[in-house]
Amino acid sequence: MQRDEMPVDVLFVGAGPACLSGAIHLKKLIDAHNEAIDAGQKSGNKLDEVMIAVLEKGSDVGAHQLSGAVLDPLALNELFPDWKTREDFPLERYVERDEMVFLTPTGHIKAPWLPPEMVNHGKPIISLGRFTKWLGTRAEELGISIFPGFSGNELLFEGNQCVGVRTGDKGIDKDGTPKDNFTPGMDMKAKVTILGEGPRGHLARKLIERRKLDANCNPMVYELGCKEVLELPPGTIKEGFVVHSLGFPLDMKTFGGSFMYSLGGDKVCIGMMTALDAADPMLDVHHQLQVLKNHPFVRGIIGQGKVVKYGAKAVTIGGWASMPQLYTDGAMLVGDSASFLNPMRIKGIHLSMKSGMLAAEAAFDALLSGDNSANTLKAYKERLDASWVRTEMEASKNMHANFGQGIVGGMVRTGVQWLFGPGSSTKPFEADYDHMKTISAYYGQATPIEKPKLEFDGKYLVDKLTDVYMSGTKHDEHQPAHLKIVDTEICATTCKEQYGNPCTKFCPAQVYNMRPNEQTGRLEMAVDFSNCVHCKTCDIRDPYQIITWVPPEAGEGPEYHAM
Ligand code: SF4
Repeated sequence: MQRDEMPVDVLFVGAGPACLSGAIHLKKLIDAHNEAIDAGQKSGNKLDEVMIAVLEKGSDVGAHQLSGAVLDPLALNELFPDWKTREDFPLERYVERDEMVFLTPTGHIKAPWLPPEMVNHGKPIISLGRFTKWLGTRAEELGISIFPGFSGNELLFEGNQCVGVRTGDKGIDKDGTPKDNFTPGMDMKAKVTILGEGPRGHLARKLIERRKLDANCNPMVYELGCKEVLELPPGTIKEGFVVHSLGFPLDMKTFGGSFMYSLGGDKVCIGMMTALDAADPMLDVHHQLQVLKNHPFVRGIIGQGKVVKYGAKAVTIGGWASMPQLYTDGAMLVGDSASFLNPMRIKGIHLSMKSGMLAAEAAFDALLSGDNSANTLKAYKERLDASWVRTEMEASKNMHANFGQGIVGGMVRTGVQWLFGPGSSTKPFEADYDHMKTISAYYGQATPIEKPKLEFDGKYLVDKLTDVYMSGTKHDEHQPAHLKIVDTEICATTCKEQYGNPCTKFCPAQVYNMRPNEQTGRLEMAVDFSNCVHCKTCDIRDPYQIITWVPPEAGEGPEYHAM
């Protein structure tokens, strides 16, 4: 097949905060370098006509961005020191009230004190979708080329050197035949490729596997976050507030919690985050979110609201302990794809931004020297080790391992390490799917105990399919399913008997459904892939590891924008 080739100098994959910050920082470094040479303040060659490109699989920058989010502005201060005074900055509110509560099934206990890491007072509340859109606009103003609607499907190699990315083909029918609108993906050849595709990045995974970049770290581990935006009656929200909760609806063995942030206007977001190493095979975070909203404490704050947006996303929580080698010949890993999140604070946007900026500095070295081997790109890790990122992330490196045996023990161990430091060793932990128990082992009987039924009113408490509609998700059904199940016979037999088909519960978009075969009546797996919100949970939590998420036709998926 004839494919177009596009040569670029530095290619960023994924228009999230990591790649956009990296692209902007790189362009500023190049411009400053060239200006210094023009002014006679520096010797050497100018870097003329450097092409920096950013690929984005969503329909537009911000379409696939989802987060809380209260932003720690550390990296933003470095990238745009004037952000506070810019009229175009997409601020929702500043945090004026900051609370942590422990929820019991019917009541709540307010924490009398917050550790300094958890204090958000004065920080900006943002919508990550709007924030990345703003970063994208700033990048384009600097001359960076952004390609929305283009997914990175394959890595290109010459020997062991990564030399770019092949974008996805468009216009392929369900059975794999080209349609009238077939357009082959193009080969974007780059001197340096920087992967920042978010949690469980498709290409990042391939690079890590091929170059064995995870040989010396723990596996990446995740929470699933389900988030809704609710609209409240005019005048209800009077201040910027942040409420984090622990406890109900989770048991004392499952790690997770919730958040509620006030947004601009009379909107509030609420999210439930639960670790994907939960033992319960019937884990359903979307259901937990609805149960949480039914709690009297939560109803007292947002009970008048109407759900207007929904999204779900896996969140990396292994932090420093799960960070792979960040560089190899021709390529680097940034952001969530490389575990840049502090699990103690459940904050990662500032770390992702800084990771992109530090990778950009190594890419700048490579452009100057003409050497894009690992030997040059390792400067990224050296700069990271000398930065505030390491200071912040290393302190929480054992957080995930500490909570492995339960919440109370985890809090005690984390508290001790908070006081005395994490120690020199990094504790080991296993991948999330290793922790799921069978139905009989978890429930002590052959069938699961049913979760309490909720009365969905379609306004405040909503079922999954209503929420999927709120996510704006769309996929053309005339294309190959982007969720590849190696052997659906396992779904119909072993998985059904042992685990009760957990994907039918944990998928926050009801993609997986067991339906009777028309001829035999046997229950078999049906994959309604057009509902998929790209959270990657199935790829992570499936106990048999037979599901792989691959990018669908680019430009499709959720439309988060204001999430
Ligand atoms: Fe998430 Fe997988 Fe469901 Fe898509 S199919 S929404 S990636 S769990």
